[in-house]
Amino acid sequence: MGTYNTLTRTKPANDVLTPASGAAVSRWVLASRARSVPAPPALETDQVYVTRRGTVFHSAWCQVVQRTWEFNRPALQVCGREAAGQRRLCRSCLEETRRL
Ligand SMILES: [Zn+2]
Repeated sequence: MGTYNTLTRTKPANDVLTPASGAAVSRWVLASRARSVPAPPALETDQVYVTRRGTVFHSAWCQVVQRTWEFNRPALQVCGREAAGQRRLCRSCLEETRRL
Protein backbone atom coordinates (compact mmCIF):
# COMPACT_ATOMS: atom_id res chain seq x y z
CA MET A 1 0.00 0.00 0.00
CA GLY A 2 1.47 3.16 -0.96
CA THR A 3 0.72 6.17 1.15
CA TYR A 4 0.23 9.06 -1.11
CA ASN A 5 0.16 12.32 0.59
CA THR A 6 -0.72 14.56 -2.22
CA LEU A 7 -1.36 17.58 -0.17
CA THR A 8 -0.82 20.14 -2.81
CA ARG A 9 -1.03 23.26 -0.78
CA THR A 10 0.57 25.41 -3.37
CA LYS A 11 -1.99 28.10 -3.49
CA PRO A 12 -0.37 31.30 -4.59
CA ALA A 13 -1.07 33.93 -1.99
CA ASN A 14 0.35 36.74 -4.02
CA ASP A 15 -2.95 38.36 -4.82
CA VAL A 16 -3.05 40.51 -1.76
CA LEU A 17 -2.05 43.74 -3.35
CA THR A 18 -3.59 45.91 -0.72
CA PRO A 19 -2.96 49.53 -1.48
CA ALA A 20 -1.32 51.66 1.13
CA SER A 21 -4.17 52.23 3.47
CA GLY A 22 -4.90 55.86 2.91
CA ALA A 23 -1.41 56.97 3.73
CA ALA A 24 -1.23 59.75 1.22
CA VAL A 25 -4.73 61.02 1.58
CA SER A 26 -4.43 64.69 2.17
CA ARG A 27 -7.17 66.15 4.21
CA TRP A 28 -6.88 69.78 3.36
CA VAL A 29 -10.14 71.50 3.90
CA LEU A 30 -9.88 74.78 2.14
CA ALA A 31 -11.83 77.32 4.07
CA SER A 32 -12.28 79.58 1.15
CA ARG A 33 -14.87 82.18 1.79
CA ALA A 34 -14.93 83.24 -1.79
CA ARG A 35 -17.75 85.64 -2.19
CA SER A 36 -18.75 87.70 -5.13
CA VAL A 37 -18.05 90.93 -3.31
CA PRO A 38 -14.79 91.13 -1.40
CA ALA A 39 -14.33 93.11 1.74
CA PRO A 40 -14.26 96.83 1.09
CA PRO A 41 -11.11 98.81 1.74
CA ALA A 42 -11.14 100.39 5.14
CA LEU A 43 -10.50 104.05 5.67
CA GLU A 44 -7.70 105.12 7.88
CA THR A 45 -7.37 108.42 9.60
CA ASP A 46 -7.77 111.36 7.23
CA GLN A 47 -8.67 109.19 4.32
CA VAL A 48 -11.70 109.35 2.09
CA TYR A 49 -13.23 107.39 -0.72
CA VAL A 50 -13.14 108.83 -4.19
CA THR A 51 -14.22 107.58 -7.53
CA ARG A 52 -11.69 107.92 -10.25
CA ARG A 53 -13.52 110.52 -12.30
CA GLY A 54 -15.90 111.81 -9.71
CA THR A 55 -16.11 115.33 -8.38
CA VAL A 56 -17.01 114.30 -4.88
CA PHE A 57 -15.36 112.47 -2.08
CA HIS A 58 -16.88 110.22 0.53
CA SER A 59 -16.08 110.38 4.18
CA ALA A 60 -18.11 107.29 4.90
CA TRP A 61 -19.22 104.08 3.28
CA CYS A 62 -22.36 105.58 1.84
CA GLN A 63 -24.72 104.07 -0.68
CA VAL A 64 -22.87 105.71 -3.55
CA VAL A 65 -19.64 104.07 -2.48
CA GLN A 66 -21.48 100.83 -1.98
CA ARG A 67 -22.88 100.97 -5.49
CA THR A 68 -19.54 101.88 -6.97
CA TRP A 69 -17.98 99.01 -5.11
CA GLU A 70 -20.52 96.60 -6.51
CA PHE A 71 -20.64 97.72 -10.10
CA ASN A 72 -17.46 99.61 -10.82
CA ARG A 73 -14.99 98.36 -8.28
CA PRO A 74 -11.76 99.50 -9.96
CA ALA A 75 -13.03 103.07 -9.94
CA LEU A 76 -13.27 103.21 -6.20
CA GLN A 77 -10.13 104.48 -4.57
CA VAL A 78 -8.99 105.53 -1.17
CA CYS A 79 -6.93 108.66 -0.90
CA GLY A 80 -5.95 111.18 1.68
CA ARG A 81 -8.41 113.92 2.58
CA GLU A 82 -6.04 116.54 1.24
CA ALA A 83 -5.64 114.77 -2.06
CA ALA A 84 -9.35 115.10 -2.58
CA GLY A 85 -9.14 118.80 -1.89
CA GLN A 86 -11.15 120.21 -4.79
CA ARG A 87 -13.88 117.67 -4.48
CA ARG A 88 -17.11 118.26 -2.66
CA LEU A 89 -18.40 116.06 0.06
CA CYS A 90 -20.85 113.57 -1.35
CA ARG A 91 -24.46 114.29 -0.54
CA SER A 92 -25.15 110.92 1.01
CA CYS A 93 -22.10 111.25 3.18
CA LEU A 94 -23.18 114.74 4.18
CA GLU A 95 -26.52 113.42 5.33
CA GLU A 96 -24.84 110.67 7.27
CA THR A 97 -22.57 113.19 8.90
CA ARG A 98 -25.53 115.30 9.92
CA ARG A 99 -27.29 112.32 11.33
CA LEU A 100 -24.40 111.57 13.65
ZN1 LIG B 1 -20.69 109.31 -0.18
